[in-house]
Amino acid sequence: MRNFKDLDPRTIAIHAGQHPDPASGACSAPIIQASTFAFDNCAQGAARFAGEAEGFIYTRMGNPTIARLEDAVCALEGGVGALSTASGMGAVSTALFGLLKAGDHVVGHESLYGPSRMIVERDFARFGVTSTFIDTTDLAAAAAAMQPNTRVVMLESPANPTMGISDIKALAELAHAHDALLLVDNTFATPINQNPLAMGADVVIHSMTKFINGHTDVVAGMIVFGDEALRAPLTRAHHYLGANMDPHQAWLVLRGIKTLAMRVKEAEANAMQIAAYLEDHPKVKWVRYPGLESHPQYALGRAQQRGPGSLMSFEVEGGLEGGRQLLDHLELMTLAVSLGGIETLIQHPGSMTHAAIPADERVAAGITDGLVRLSVGCEAVADLIADLERAFKHV
Ligand SMILES: *Cc1c(COP(=O)(O)O)cnc(C)c1O
Repeated sequence: MRNFKDLDPRTIAIHAGQHPDPASGACSAPIIQASTFAFDNCAQGAARFAGEAEGFIYTRMGNPTIARLEDAVCALEGGVGALSTASGMGAVSTALFGLLKAGDHVVGHESLYGPSRMIVERDFARFGVTSTFIDTTDLAAAAAAMQPNTRVVMLESPANPTMGISDIKALAELAHAHDALLLVDNTFATPINQNPLAMGADVVIHSMTKFINGHTDVVAGMIVFGDEALRAPLTRAHHYLGANMDPHQAWLVLRGIKTLAMRVKEAEANAMQIAAYLEDHPKVKWVRYPGLESHPQYALGRAQQRGPGSLMSFEVEGGLEGGRQLLDHLELMTLAVSLGGIETLIQHPGSMTHAAIPADERVAAGITDGLVRLSVGCEAVADLIADLERAFKHV
């Protein structure tokens, strides 16, 4: 792989892993839809298994199309290696499986992606892993949660749906002082706006379902590590758990990733305008967006991220009914979970994803009745604001 270290992320997103096919000269990656790879002779097969010769063996353990995507995301994150997975949760579960053992303890951000928290709290618990979930935007709370057996500190920044920003450098130092590893789910910020490994994190996770693929048509994940010592345990977990990617899936993400930087920046410019519009709106109680000075960690966000991104949450007047009216009267924005697509996606946890949770528990977890989460896309911003304006008349 060419060295991309000194290049801008916008250039890396277009070129890393995208070299012409040596066999045909094709400028688009060939889809090597094969489960297994032939050896010239037994000695070559043995050398590949021993890791002494380059080359592929079996697609669960690696594949040329998938390797291109791993190279691309690895270069964007500044890692030493990357492992692609069938989904973002495939990345989370594989990384944790590779890093944890019975008796270990995990410190996690309290508003981690739901299944990421559940797999630690409920499933790894069945194998003797304990955990403490706190607000990692509060460094004192994180320090207090550390135990002698803490092995992994796990966070998302910005986090969902509070958009809280955690100090990655300080938390990496805290983790390392306790011989623990810092794992950052960088799905929201994307490698265009934030590189956790450069701030001391050990492992980065992506749900490439979101921004990296960006076209709302693939579920995929990636693990990137910053230290050679992590290659063996993570690769073993990846090979044995089998949450591996398919070559066609890799090809679709290789297609999407080329426009990652321009999508992220276009959506971010739209989001800045929409956040300002919402903050001034009489039917909006508050807006939580890292690009607004009203954000509680605005200064940290400016220092740590290259841009505020395109995700925000806001509270509509009128609680559950207000949220429902707003969403039911939108014509352009798509009512759907997920995020990071080229189209604007909006969801109302109180009446959609979190509707089954009793109201008091939901509110205690920060999901207030009128909270709306918005993933701004790349449409013309005037059309998006007009859509909101029309829908707000019904609130
Ligand atoms: C969506 C998401 C995941 C899970 O990814 P899948 O691709 O759906 O498995 C993990 N973390 C974050 C922050 C996400 O948004």
